[in-house]
Amino acid sequence: MGDTIFGKIIRREIPADIVYEDDDVLAFRDLNGQAPVHVLFVPKRAIATLDAAVATDAELLGRLLLATAAYARREGLAEQGYRTVINCNEHGGQTVFHLHVHLLAGRQMHWPPG
Ligand code: AMP
Repeated sequence: MGDTIFGKIIRREIPADIVYEDDDVLAFRDLNGQAPVHVLFVPKRAIATLDAAVATDAELLGRLLLATAAYARREGLAEQGYRTVINCNEHGGQTVFHLHVHLLAGRQMHWPPG
C-alpha cells in the first residue's frame, strides 16, 4: 500500500496538531476543520479504506473507535454529542487513503449530509 500524508504525520516527518496518541492510534486536528472540534483518528498501521479492512483488523478498528469515544468523553463532548464519519472511496468523499475516523463536535449536526 502506498504511503500517504497521514503516514508522514505518524512518522513525524510533517507537523500536525496532535491531540492524542497511544500504541495503535494517533489523533490530530483536521487542517480544514468543519466544526469547532474536528479531529482525525488514525490507526498507526495503515489500512487504505474501510472496504480494505479484513477480519484480522477487527481489534485495531475496535481500538480506533474506542479511542475516539474516550477522547470525546474526556473532552466533555459526549453529553451534547458528536458525529463520527468514515469516508470510503470516491462517492464517500475519501481523499486520503489511510483509513481514519473524523470526530466532529461543538455545533449541531444535520441529517442527511450533503
Ligand atoms: P477524507 O476526505 O475522509 O479522506 O478526509 C481527509 C481529511 O484530511 C480532510 O478533512 C483534510 O482536511 C484532512 N487533511 C489533509 N491533509 C491534512 C494534514 N496534513 N493535516 C491534517 N489534516 C489533513
